[in-house]
Amino acid sequence: MIPYGRHHISADDIQAVRAVLESDWLTQGPKVPEFEQSVASSVQARYGVAMSSATAALHGAYKALDLGAGDTLWTSPNTFVATANAALYCGASVEFVDIHGQTYCLDMDALEDRLDQAARRGTAIPKIVCAVHFAGQSCDMKRLAALAQNYGFRIVEDASHAIGGDYLNDPVGSCKYSDIAVFSFHPVKIITTGEGGVAVTNDPNLAELMRRFRSHGITRDPEYLSKKQYAPWYYEQIDLGFNYRMTDIQAALGISQLKRLSTVVEGRHRVAAYYSEVLADLPLALPFQSDDCRSSYHLYVVCLDRRRTSVGRDDLYPVLRENGIGVNVHYIPVYRQPWYRQLGVSQSNCPVMEAYFESCITLPMFPNLDEKDLHHICGVLRGSLS
Ligand SMILES: *Cc1c(COP(=O)(O)O)cnc(C)c1O
Repeated sequence: MIPYGRHHISADDIQAVRAVLESDWLTQGPKVPEFEQSVASSVQARYGVAMSSATAALHGAYKALDLGAGDTLWTSPNTFVATANAALYCGASVEFVDIHGQTYCLDMDALEDRLDQAARRGTAIPKIVCAVHFAGQSCDMKRLAALAQNYGFRIVEDASHAIGGDYLNDPVGSCKYSDIAVFSFHPVKIITTGEGGVAVTNDPNLAELMRRFRSHGITRDPEYLSKKQYAPWYYEQIDLGFNYRMTDIQAALGISQLKRLSTVVEGRHRVAAYYSEVLADLPLALPFQSDDCRSSYHLYVVCLDRRRTSVGRDDLYPVLRENGIGVNVHYIPVYRQPWYRQLGVSQSNCPVMEAYFESCITLPMFPNLDEKDLHHICGVLRGSLS
């Protein structure tokens, strides 16, 4: 089976991990801060905070922005459940705003309408809007930042798909238009640490809150201690945090992988260019690319154009699978999950998401997907759709 995504491990990666295993520090050593620095400088943000996963990093980001009981977070339903779950961990509620029909990211018109309605009716304005950069293409962050100014909410970018992408010529994660951005380093993502995530921000206070949060709420920094200059061994727990730390083993892998980031993204663009050329005449909507963005192409999603074919996604899916092509569906709308249904989350706000969900299918996409496999995938697709 050709998988829909696959990690790549080089001899240098293995050497980097081995060196940590042979060192004195498997965790809480020098590699984690080095990885945080490398990620932050690669995306032109000031601070990076590494955690055990992007889910943990989202939890830390929301918490640092003081999301709690009685608050609401708004996000896109076209995402992995973790984006929304992390808000539930904080005791907040979640609402979903419809996606744009071409980018499949948050639709800023729909968001503005909802904000306007909430303001007029006096219902809850979100404390945080989490923008999910679906498939590696940035949301319209400039417009989102303008709405945040008008309505008074904070912005987190779920950039799990998007490291190595650009928005208006800045790297995704520069936080020019957001408070915090979060990257995932799960093996299906652009680069990997096995499991892992990094939150980046330009705000030293948010960085400090997230650092404390990932390590039990403990600090040794004299600035925050209630008993000053007590003793060198002294620390205080001043918040309730978690053990969400990344190990040095993972960070070393991340440092080594990050060196190949631009090559990896170029490889993904090569695969996308092949698909876009060879599939152009089929009854499929191919991924729309905004002029404002350079996608990192985490996913290559096509939608069946039901005006031009009677073949449905659920007809196509098993045929591709039987032919050894590991297609997938990104995503089941989060509000459809039983957990969210029983919470009473609205099922009727997102008609564009519903139409997208009916027709979307994710083709294999990773940098060393070779020409032979690409030829096979495109041939089977063509055969199924004619
Ligand atoms: C993968 C993913 C996550 C969760 O990342 P983990 O590192 O596995 O916790 C969150 N949001 C989106 C959009 C993702 O794709």
